[in-house]
Amino acid sequence: MNKTGTINKTGFGFLRLPEDKEAGALRWDAIDQMVDAYLAAGGIWFDTCYTYMDGLSEEAIRRCVVNRKGHNQYKLIEKLPGYLCHSYEDCARYFQEEQKRCGTDFFDVFMLHWLNQENYEIAEQYDEFRFLREIKEAGLAERIGFSYHDSADLLDTILQRHPEIDVVLLQINYADWESAGIESRKCYETVIKHGKSVFVMEPVKGGTLAELPPKSEELLRSIHPDWSAVDWALRFVQSLPGVELVLSGMNRMEQIEQNLTPFNALEAKEIDALAAVSMELHSGTSIPCTGCRYCVDYCPENIAIPDYFRLYNELQKWPEEDWKIRPVYKQFTAHNAKPTACIACKSCETHCPQHIKISDYIRKVEETFRCDH
Ligand code: SF4
Ligand code: SF4
Repeated sequence: MNKTGTINKTGFGFLRLPEDKEAGALRWDAIDQMVDAYLAAGGIWFDTCYTYMDGLSEEAIRRCVVNRKGHNQYKLIEKLPGYLCHSYEDCARYFQEEQKRCGTDFFDVFMLHWLNQENYEIAEQYDEFRFLREIKEAGLAERIGFSYHDSADLLDTILQRHPEIDVVLLQINYADWESAGIESRKCYETVIKHGKSVFVMEPVKGGTLAELPPKSEELLRSIHPDWSAVDWALRFVQSLPGVELVLSGMNRMEQIEQNLTPFNALEAKEIDALAAVSMELHSGTSIPCTGCRYCVDYCPENIAIPDYFRLYNELQKWPEEDWKIRPVYKQFTAHNAKPTACIACKSCETHCPQHIKISDYIRKVEETFRCDH
């Protein structure tokens, strides 16, 4: 919180940067301008990971931040893809590659990326927490932590076994706050109980909270006519005590201005309104897919899972536009693997941070769009 009592904890996630799709490259000038605008608005945190944008995210950190600014002007978060390691020595190999890609020896926060049950077992098997400790002791990172996608119970166990951890990066947003799959609230309370710092990812749930059903939209507008749905989502997470940083993937200049505008913490009646919106969102039949595409690489049949889920959700949201959506689906299936190609292997499901039962939903998509409907 700053001197005037207002809050702004927005970190710049280098996850969805502006791209020149035709040239197959990032728009470096546009990223430079966004970095300058973000720092000028009082932001200091940049976040990257080995796997983001196939390595281009780290290159963007080097070109647009590290090579252009002194490290006293910013803080940097990097993550180790521990799940790709096959030995303790692999940790050092990835770390050195990350240092090189980012053009720096030092990270303000160094994390294990994406701990869940499966990746936690890998982390223990290859002593990846020891690697984190050694990085910190060697002065190569100021704080250490992990990003997390699993139950609050497992999180509690990990933090009991690893009190050396300083920071946990959690998926928190008002729609997942009471979710039985994501357990945002329970995970948040667990991290606070252990006295660790909370960093937040997915505050707008991959952009899905930017557009709300009409009734919810109306309710929020009746309270604050000048707040957008994104403002509401960001203000919810930033108002939580103990949250130090909220990462936001920004790829347009206007998002910098919107996300960096300081505001006062939400009041009880505003939090109640968001609980009502969350109830409406969960009463619908939409698939809670954020479009992150983490599942896609693991599908042996190359099914464009999030694209099918997006079409399905559009049909649920706007059934009167059936005549427009079905031809798009038909066109899409003509050029891509069809949902019927799904062999229910569930390899995608272990990589979905939203814990979606993808194979069941893919079948539902197919049934919904089948020609005889
Ligand atoms: S369950 Fe279906 S969609 Fe998922 S990876 Fe297997 S084939 Fe692909
Ligand atoms: S199904 Fe899950 S992993 Fe795949 S895009 Fe959606 S949220 Fe991401």
